[in-house]
Amino acid sequence: MQNDAENALIQWFKKNHEQLPWRLEPLSKKRSAYVVWISEIMLQQTQVASVKAHFLRWIQKFPNITELAKAKESTILKFWQGLGYYSRAKNILKTAKIIQEKYNEKFPETRQELEVLPGIGSYTAGAILSLAFHQNEAILDGNLIRIFSRFYALDFLPENAEQKKIYWNKAKSWAANKYAFLKNEALMELGRNICKVKNPKCDQCPLRPHCVSFLQNKIESRPPKKIKLYTPWYGVIFIAKSKDQKFLISEGSSFFLKNQKTFPHFSSSPSRAKGIPAEVDKWLQGAEIKTFRYGANIEHSITRYKIFMQTLFLEIKNNAPKTTHWISEKELFDLPSSLCKKVLQALEISPSKN
Ligand code: SF4
Repeated sequence: MQNDAENALIQWFKKNHEQLPWRLEPLSKKRSAYVVWISEIMLQQTQVASVKAHFLRWIQKFPNITELAKAKESTILKFWQGLGYYSRAKNILKTAKIIQEKYNEKFPETRQELEVLPGIGSYTAGAILSLAFHQNEAILDGNLIRIFSRFYALDFLPENAEQKKIYWNKAKSWAANKYAFLKNEALMELGRNICKVKNPKCDQCPLRPHCVSFLQNKIESRPPKKIKLYTPWYGVIFIAKSKDQKFLISEGSSFFLKNQKTFPHFSSSPSRAKGIPAEVDKWLQGAEIKTFRYGANIEHSITRYKIFMQTLFLEIKNNAPKTTHWISEKELFDLPSSLCKKVLQALEISPSKN
């Protein structure tokens, strides 16, 4: 039964696959491990449509490991802007350097070696090994979990070791024998476009004749829902401008934006502050405030935090002290995080004309 389903999947994929900038035609061509790696990392938590333009820009700037490994972290982060989860970009740089130094710029070809590289987990390792080296290696991500749960009628998610093993064994069974590179990619695409979270298009699905949930009319209940738990975080984030046109930033002091430059912020009660909160003084080290105004409130999600922030703009009478973190206006608008962009927008701050 699975053989028939696999064949039907391959035929469907050959006819219906999307044209994507990281794919090669014909599909049987081996791809560059570098291209598979970058595209798969970009695709984690991000829609294909928004990855396309980012990927093309990236490949133009960093066409290979050599160019990537010599880039500055700030440049990498700039080219990652808009994709979120900046630790992914930082790990890409770390891994590029390891591949350059330890492997003479050639990607290792075993799961064991790949999975110890920063940012490469079992899914990405499987994608690199199957799509670039045509090895019979499995992949498992949210799309495949959903397909397997429905196809095999699995009423649980891979939450503990035993459940993970069951899902991985299913994934391995699809990657066994020939054409793992086609079947893996076909499953990813099937999950994205056909066996979707809501309203799966079973009428267009090549797996339908063998899909247990379809035959049982139980698609709605599989996979079982996972309750999403967000941790709410309330606070104030502020931009302080000194007399000599410098802007205060915080670096590495945020617990949800580790080691990143952002604007100073601190937690507060969910109710809206009106005056200048006492915490601001600690940041300004006694500098005298000339004016202040609150901007629009912002909401932002970072990993498991749902952040609700008041935005505040302050002008101070003094020049920027040399000992703390102050940046120029150009650097201010170059800050890569989308949180910073949101704050600038909420406070309606745009680059000065001169
Ligand atoms: S038949 Fe429907 S539920 Fe089953 S794998 Fe296909 S799209 Fe998913």
